[in-house]
Amino acid sequence: MKNKPNQPKANPVAPAKTTNAAASSASTSEPSKRLLALPAKKLDRFWGQVSKTDRCWNWTGHKNGPEPGREHGIIRVNGKEVRVHRLSYMIHIGPIPDGYFVCHRCDNALCVNPAHLFVGTHNDNMADMVQKRRSTWGSRNPNAKLNDNIASKMKEMLSRGIKQGTIAAEFGVSPSLISHLSRGKIWRHV
Ligand SMILES: [Zn+2]
Repeated sequence: MKNKPNQPKANPVAPAKTTNAAASSASTSEPSKRLLALPAKKLDRFWGQVSKTDRCWNWTGHKNGPEPGREHGIIRVNGKEVRVHRLSYMIHIGPIPDGYFVCHRCDNALCVNPAHLFVGTHNDNMADMVQKRRSTWGSRNPNAKLNDNIASKMKEMLSRGIKQGTIAAEFGVSPSLISHLSRGKIWRHV
């Protein structure tokens, strides 16, 4: 009778075994972090089109993009065109999560230096771009959504008939801001 309450205590050993099994299966699924292994020939072709500087590693091969300065390097892998900065990220850092972009810290779209690359969402990418433009173009007020340069660039795009929504997305600002701009409610002086 006195021993009876002790008996069930021996049982918990069994559940412990299942947690071990779960742990080991978790560790085997970890290679999701593994780097993309390209055939040596393909890697040679990749590096043959990269010109390294102290800072950026510039792609000199085939390019594709909306306009000069915003082009991305392209290489063909397994019959598919791949952006070279994304490829560099996969080779050096790891897989790109679904729906994520590979962005440039250096603001140089042709750079494949993995130290300059990071993954972000579309919004991160836009916010990052706008922030860089702001600092490059030297707005005095860091909270200002626009500065003269950005506003005049937006106006120029409006005058070319580019849709307000497109411009808003391009600069990561609200469509209503573009609407105000187009109706002369703000930034009339540029
Ligand atoms: Zn760079």
